[in-house]
Amino acid sequence: MCSVNSGDIEGKMTTHQRIKDRKIGIVGMARSGVAAAILAKQLGGIPFVSDAAPIQKLEAQFARLKENSIDFEAGGHTARILDSDYIILSPGVRLDIDILQKARSKGIPCFSEIEFASWVCRGTIVAVTGSNGKTTTTTLIGEMFKAGGVEAVVCGNVGLPFSEVAANIPINGVAVVEVSTFQLESVEEFNPHIALILNLSPDHLDRHGSFDNYKQLKYRLAENQTENDWLILNEEDKTLTRDKIKTGAKRAWFTTKESATASAFVSDGTLMVRIDDRDLEVLPVSDIRIPGPHNLQNSAAASVAASLMGIGPDAIAEALRAFTGVEHRMERVGKIAGIEFINDSKATNVDSVCYALRSVSNGLYLIAGGREKGASYAPIIEFGRDKIKGIVAIGEAREKIFSDLGKSFSITTAGSLEEAVNLCFEMARPGETVLLSPACASFDMFTSFEHRGRVFKEAVAALRRGKNSSEKVQS
Ligand code: ADP
Repeated sequence: MCSVNSGDIEGKMTTHQRIKDRKIGIVGMARSGVAAAILAKQLGGIPFVSDAAPIQKLEAQFARLKENSIDFEAGGHTARILDSDYIILSPGVRLDIDILQKARSKGIPCFSEIEFASWVCRGTIVAVTGSNGKTTTTTLIGEMFKAGGVEAVVCGNVGLPFSEVAANIPINGVAVVEVSTFQLESVEEFNPHIALILNLSPDHLDRHGSFDNYKQLKYRLAENQTENDWLILNEEDKTLTRDKIKTGAKRAWFTTKESATASAFVSDGTLMVRIDDRDLEVLPVSDIRIPGPHNLQNSAAASVAASLMGIGPDAIAEALRAFTGVEHRMERVGKIAGIEFINDSKATNVDSVCYALRSVSNGLYLIAGGREKGASYAPIIEFGRDKIKGIVAIGEAREKIFSDLGKSFSITTAGSLEEAVNLCFEMARPGETVLLSPACASFDMFTSFEHRGRVFKEAVAALRRGKNSSEKVQS
């Protein structure tokens, strides 16, 4: 938990005044909401937290709030939340819920939790968004800063709320913040010194309505930037190169190809950065340990962010050589009887599955499915045509997967992830791969994508232990 003394917030008096003695409503009692409430309390504010979930589900949160003498309610939002100077939203909370509509009609401003944390943070903010690759790139930027001797905290959507660390980041430190579209729905002043938009593909259309709405929300990351700031964009993403993004920031580009305009690019198999018109070698692409073309993009994107912050190519290369990736993202779980198992549970949309397919070789059994997000699965046909030998569909999306892909692939269904793993193992031959890359959210069968990934890994471990595997080894 962060502790704050008034010295820490010197020079941020406006922020201090914005929080001290203010009634601050917080909607949503997930980890970010609780962190924001504790930060508000430490800075002299009067937080009140409200959640619609039943009391029984929130016991852990209650304990933390009580420990910090913070008032709260659960099981629904009462009018008490409207007795606030402003409201902070936990990332999962929808802006269109009744209580927030009432708040807005009463003129009560609503801010996202990252915006609130950014008021308090004295260090430099580097913010990463995009449809895919956020966690990998955010983590990698953090590693590059550390290799270059810069104090960096990786936070935001990666599981450590920005509000939990914001007050302790020193003025010469950096917060590398992963930002989701949901958090951008309610920012007013959020202004990162360096903003990255990695790529854009349809995702969360269930919540954002259309691709146009979704990308306009992503572009809000850059709307308060000024000429002292940088917006880093993907030169290979047609939407990002075509759209006119409203920002005062200077633009920098990354690509995995040769380029005369990008600040990170690949030339003759070497990742390069371009600083002040000088081209500097970072490392051979073959030395990068995270697999696939998408991870080369993430590596290039992170290299631009690091070099704009003054990190030299040697430190960038050191971080890239050491980085083996983040759990549940193309994570190699191991081989049984010559069959490789890969956990890509975090692939919760179709685009990331297409990238996963480009990273693996032929002879593949794909486990896909879960809760639908509204996009078509058809793009999988192009990338999977020569690779996928069979698909095992799970969860609520089974029928849609059948109707979108049934003409192109052989599809079986399974009632559970464990059953899907066993089915794939029966079908696969040595040298082939079983890939969990679901293209869907996990909430129909699991509590999170991490939970889904762990169940997959346990099923693989059970196979390894089971007599099936020894029979197969002998056959
Ligand atoms: P996010 O935080 O945006 O969900 P992650 O870094 O957690 O992204 O990666 C999630 C999944 O997205 C990975 O398992 C991989 O399949 C895919 N992925 C990662 N980086 C990219 C990228 N740059 N472009 C497309 N897909 C990607």
